[in-house]
Amino acid sequence: MSLHIQQNVSLQSFNTMAVPAQADYLTTVTSVPEMHDALSLARRQNLPVLVLGEGSNTLFEHDYKGLVILNRLRGMDVVEELGDLIRVKVGAGENWHRWVAHSLKQGWSGLENLALIPGLVGAAPMQNIGAYGVELEQYLHSVELLYVDSGEIGELSREQCEFGYRDSVFKHRHAPRAIITAVTFELNTYFEPQITYPAVKEYLQTRMRPSQELTALHVFDAICHIRRSKLPSPREIPNSGSFFKNPVVSEEKLASLREHYPEIVSYEHRGQIKLAAAWLIERAGWKRRQRDGVQVHKDQALVITNPGRASGASVMSLARAIQEDIAKQFRIQLEIEPRIY
Ligand SMILES: Cc1cc2nc3c(=O)[nH]c(=O)nc-3n(C[C@H](O)[C@H](O)[C@H](O)COP(=O)(O)OP(=O)(O)OC[C@H]3O[C@@H](n4cnc5c(N)ncnc54)[C@H](O)[C@@H]3O)c2cc1C
Repeated sequence: MSLHIQQNVSLQSFNTMAVPAQADYLTTVTSVPEMHDALSLARRQNLPVLVLGEGSNTLFEHDYKGLVILNRLRGMDVVEELGDLIRVKVGAGENWHRWVAHSLKQGWSGLENLALIPGLVGAAPMQNIGAYGVELEQYLHSVELLYVDSGEIGELSREQCEFGYRDSVFKHRHAPRAIITAVTFELNTYFEPQITYPAVKEYLQTRMRPSQELTALHVFDAICHIRRSKLPSPREIPNSGSFFKNPVVSEEKLASLREHYPEIVSYEHRGQIKLAAAWLIERAGWKRRQRDGVQVHKDQALVITNPGRASGASVMSLARAIQEDIAKQFRIQLEIEPRIY
């Protein structure tokens, strides 16, 4: 076995919140046989396993008492061409943004609105990543899995992934017993713009000549520009993006909130009414507040930052205080988006 196993490793550089938790054991795998070896070792030593991509949606509240496997399975292969559609199988360890950029360069479109989302391809199905009106599930064909207990390889179709808003079967029935080894995408060989967000429309209108033909690359550039101007880069200020999900409420609940807060921000998504969690947090006075080196971002109240590289417990303490306050003020339970360990 060629695996290199490290002991008592700091996870600070393996999570974008930069919390200084430790893992008992850590290894990097670059092939499916290596993944098998890592799992057999964990089985023999009775260790829990945690597969990590870039740690951009993971918060370590505690040290990890087990084996952290850094997934670095690579590869991008066309598996089928079907007229206007193309299927491409991508290794779970490929960087998400690099894959999006590569797909567009090949003339395959669909993923342009999802540009610049941090993380690796293998973590994307976990919460059905989404941005600017597009969700992963629209372009996902199937997911290849390695079952932790049996070591068997399986495949789930898009329907079997049971995708929802920031949700999938991988957070429930398959967690944490299955490792995603590859994702097969189904992309278009023609371009169909999906521009519903005013900021994207505005950016394109100001940058393009009236006679210019809109391409997926223009949309990609617009999304990259908007994201860079709005969201703090984890390289500069540690964070895990949106810390809370936008809560789903009933029509009655929205009506009763509107009586007290006529300016409350809500929208419709997947046939459900959602409230902007950022509005609730800002209205409750949490924007810019900080505690023990952890801060609610000054421009975007949905993002908790960790400029002091404080512990996961400190991050969770601020997050729980926000949850309690929102529950008290609005009678709404905010759900945390990152996975907590
Ligand atoms: C600045 C910023 C902006 C963001 N913007 C968005 C956004 O617009 N939309 C959005 O949806 N998300 C967004 N996110 C969240 C994050 O980028 C995504 O959730 C991303 O898919 C996480 O990838 P990762 O490799 O870092 O996952 P990790 O944090 O490494 O893992 C996340 C979870 O998935 C599990 N996992 C990882 N890889 C595998 C695998 N191969 N098999 C099985 N389980 C696995 C891990 O065990 C963990 O539970 C943002 C985050 C940041 C920091």
